[in-house]
Amino acid sequence: MIGVTDNLSIVKDLLAEAATDAKRGPASVRLLAVSKKQPLAKVFEAAAAGQRDFGENQVQEALPKIRAAEAENLIWHFIGHLQTNKTRQVAEHFDWVHSIDRLRIAERLNEHRPAGMPPLNVCLQVNLDDESSKSGLSPVDVQPLAALVHELPNLHLRGLMCLPAIRDGFEEQRKPFRILAELKEFISTTGIELDTLSMGMSDDFRAAIFEGATIVRIGTRLFGQRS
Ligand SMILES: *Cc1c(COP(=O)(O)O)cnc(C)c1O
Repeated sequence: MIGVTDNLSIVKDLLAEAATDAKRGPASVRLLAVSKKQPLAKVFEAAAAGQRDFGENQVQEALPKIRAAEAENLIWHFIGHLQTNKTRQVAEHFDWVHSIDRLRIAERLNEHRPAGMPPLNVCLQVNLDDESSKSGLSPVDVQPLAALVHELPNLHLRGLMCLPAIRDGFEEQRKPFRILAELKEFISTTGIELDTLSMGMSDDFRAAIFEGATIVRIGTRLFGQRS
């Protein structure tokens, strides 16, 4: 059976290959290992193989993992839907939040970020398919929220994130990622410097890298099917 260590080296090679094919430097793409619904042992295995960034989408599941792996000095990213009653725990225990989609959440994270910790890195989540079942801002609302979040002192607005509907074929997969990249460029023209595009998962990371992804969020390709 192929384990996490082997998967990690295979995925890293694929990311580097995609970056090179897209005429980008391999170091410009950061791998976020999505460990949601995966046992702690797999987090430790990936960490031992050098993986630093991990993503979780449920606070209750994430906190015990974060505590257990404290000595590993990992970087924890919250990538799930965030409710107002969980913002304190997220602000206290995570390094990144990819899923900001309303001002109230950003304000609460800003308020709860403990003094002495660096600003919380955040991305705005954009809903590019107008799917009411998914969270995320509509593209027209992104710039106004970016302007407000940019002003919050305990948050560091890094960029945009998307989770598009599943599409078949490389060219189709590229389309939503291109829109997110254009949105990031547009926001930069308004004087807000963004350096992050969090986009691409196990089945579409190559398309995302071609459109400029700086963080790809990969779960099953690294850790296998979720329990
Ligand atoms: C689960 C999840 C992923 C990883 O998905 P895989 O298809 O397993 O790679 C990425 N991003 C978000 C927001 C997720 O919830």
